[in-house]
Amino acid sequence: MSTRPRVAFISEHAGPLAALGGEDSGGQNVYVAEVTRNLARLGFDVDIFVRGDGSQPTVVEWSPSVRVIHLQVGPPGFLPKDDLWPLMPAFRDALLAFARGQVRRSTRARRSPYALIHSNFWMSGWVAVELKERLELPVAHIFHATGVTKRRYQGEADTSPDERIDVEKRIIREVDRILAQCPAEFEELLTEYGADPGKIAITPAGVDLQRFRPMGRLAARAELGLDPDAFTIVYVGRMVRRKGVRNILRALPFLLAAAGTGRPIHLLAVGGESAEPDPALSPELGTLQTLAAELGVTQHVTFTGARPPDELYKYYSAGNVVVTTPWYEPFGLTPLEAMACARPVVGAAVGGIQYTVRDGLTGLLVPPRAPEQLAAALRRFLDEKRLAVTMGMAARARVEKQFSWPRVAERIAAVYRGLMSEQPRPVVRLPRHPSTQPGEAVYGAD
Ligand code: UDP
Repeated sequence: MSTRPRVAFISEHAGPLAALGGEDSGGQNVYVAEVTRNLARLGFDVDIFVRGDGSQPTVVEWSPSVRVIHLQVGPPGFLPKDDLWPLMPAFRDALLAFARGQVRRSTRARRSPYALIHSNFWMSGWVAVELKERLELPVAHIFHATGVTKRRYQGEADTSPDERIDVEKRIIREVDRILAQCPAEFEELLTEYGADPGKIAITPAGVDLQRFRPMGRLAARAELGLDPDAFTIVYVGRMVRRKGVRNILRALPFLLAAAGTGRPIHLLAVGGESAEPDPALSPELGTLQTLAAELGVTQHVTFTGARPPDELYKYYSAGNVVVTTPWYEPFGLTPLEAMACARPVVGAAVGGIQYTVRDGLTGLLVPPRAPEQLAAALRRFLDEKRLAVTMGMAARARVEKQFSWPRVAERIAAVYRGLMSEQPRPVVRLPRHPSTQPGEAVYGAD
């Protein structure tokens, strides 16, 4: 019988099999894939629990020692993540039934085949705290994004269920460890949620250093059919409003005015719901195309649509500089990916970007929603030719040292080992707030 501890890795909407770049599939999917793969190398078996949409088998042997378990709850087909909350009681019950089924198959007289739970995002965190006692397991939880931040920045546009923040507070009280991805998140957990600092471990996300590797700029441009001479700014990421792509477009007229006609300037924007840029599928793309026309910069911008992760190094490498200016960013994988491709990052001084990008060393930090300041930062790269090369090299060195996935997984494994060696702690349970239970599932068979 295997002596490898088995981890129940819960990530209700973001599994490793989804295509990336769409509205609901981004950094969390990458995190789940990379962390679990690398934990397997460090001696853990992992079951990743996601909601199945009816099209997949329940168990998929995804990678050595890592399985994806599709819990088929709710109606068949895709559902946006903000619609999944009413399905969580069914998801919890399905997970419990699966775990119990696994125990029957094993010879061990334990209540659970798992050594611990690692939950991702608030809804899976709810499932984890619901199952913690029933399965007698410690829980490590990572939020990826918090409801307080989302509400602050998105206001009315925040489609999260009303219960989200109360549920997050319950998770913070009841789990054994909270994994914060950066110092800004650590601070937020203390100040906004009153978390116990002794429970929080900082474990960042990482980057695949083989997949994201530097390629010569001219070779990359030749492969992609891009102008070899243009000063090229690259954006990679989801096409949603909070990512601030509008801000990059608005910076272009300032940059063009400052640069004069000396050198062509180009923005390459990668991401969206489909390989061809399609405003019907990605409404933000349509808004961006209209804005580019209004600003008179259409001929300076290419929207490529989404690209698979294995091709992205060419896009990053084609750039002189990579830009990301979201309103907020819980962590942000794309800056790390750009840095791994030895490109400097001009990033908004928010969330995880302040931690991954070293201002003045591996890139420049600017305020979000400040196109003129973004243009001024970009202009430095236009004027000082060596700056991009020097910062790009420093960027690659920084990610090699701190942000490779094996490194990140080692930090998470250390948290797991600490948890597995501790005596189980009694759950600190306050009287149950009614809003920390989802209502009855609202979906019918259709
Ligand atoms: N991504 C991709 N193809 C695209 C656009 C994005 O593979 O066309 C990936 C990108 O490389 C990154 C992830 O989607 O790994 C986005 O993660 P990030 O943390 O930057 O943002 P999030 O989507 O989690 O808000």
